[in-house]
Amino acid sequence: MSRRSRPKPRGGSPDELMEWYVRNRQQTDAWIDTDVARSCTSKQQYADEADARAHALMNGMGDVLYSYECRYCGFWHLTRRPN
Ligand SMILES: [Zn+2]
Repeated sequence: MSRRSRPKPRGGSPDELMEWYVRNRQQTDAWIDTDVARSCTSKQQYADEADARAHALMNGMGDVLYSYECRYCGFWHLTRRPN
């Protein structure tokens, strides 16, 4: 997270600081929601790594897909291996 990309609080009262903080929290949450919607609702969820790997292999995609533990839903997903 780069601080440069975000507006800095202009000193001021604690209220202003809190307002700034809340505003940035909301932006972050919105971004996370979008990310979750993309990664979790569009992908199959697997209980654990073995389950995810098994499905990849069953589909003949064992070499193409890799499994990862989702930091949002806690399940495992499969995604295409980057080159
Ligand atoms: Zn997920």
